[in-house]
Amino acid sequence: MSASKTDHPHPSPALLEKLSVREKIVIANWKMNGSAEANRLWAEEFLAKLGDLNCRTAVCAPFVYLSELVRLFKDTGVAVGAQTVSPRDQGAFTGEVSAAMLADIGMSLCLVGHSERRLVAHGIAPVVCVGETLAEREAGLTEAVVLRQLRTVLTRVPVAKLGAVAYEPVWAIGTGRTATPQAAQHVHAALRACLTEADAEAAAKTPLLYGGSVKPDNAHELFSQPDIDGGLIGGAALKAEDFHSVCAAARVD
Ligand code: PEP
Repeated sequence: MSASKTDHPHPSPALLEKLSVREKIVIANWKMNGSAEANRLWAEEFLAKLGDLNCRTAVCAPFVYLSELVRLFKDTGVAVGAQTVSPRDQGAFTGEVSAAMLADIGMSLCLVGHSERRLVAHGIAPVVCVGETLAEREAGLTEAVVLRQLRTVLTRVPVAKLGAVAYEPVWAIGTGRTATPQAAQHVHAALRACLTEADAEAAAKTPLLYGGSVKPDNAHELFSQPDIDGGLIGGAALKAEDFHSVCAAARVD
């Protein structure tokens, strides 16, 4: 059985073509939530008000729902992505899903804790997540930790091939605690500087997303920071209405 088919039956929109100036991106990360019926209702509700938004959007869902979501969001501009991917190409790895398989069903992006060259090879944009733990933050190591994580990725993936970098402080994910807009901006500026050092032109176009308890009421201030190009949203992406409100906050004033 071969896993390397490359023509996509339902290509997902290219969410992560590089940002044009000041465009925002908001990505829903549903984690292990949803059902066929709930997803259909979510899509229906979100698509009904999609025209109000002026940011790019994407939904990262559990593997089993991806094909159906590609169908539901076909030709709408909403991109669909996976939440993880195997670092292997193919073979005897029970339960794993390869980048080629994701490309085969029309994925255009994938969340990854650390980046893999083969994602790039299969045309899937890696959304690379970096972030410090609470202990690291309290030890004053935030910048050092996230820059180390990003530099590790850059040894394997050129800036121009990154889909996005998401700064997600571990202590803020799913906790209701969020970085202040100023603290998040500080980290984003350091990430941008690091990308710029490697490739200034590509760095200017690489979306830097903030993730960690973003909600409708704190999204706008976060997204208004100069180096915050949008968000990666967990809890607030589970209801279409809340996710729509977060996306609406990603306007450019
Ligand atoms: C996430 O899942 O990446 C995330 C940021 O979750 P939450 O918005 O719930 O903190």
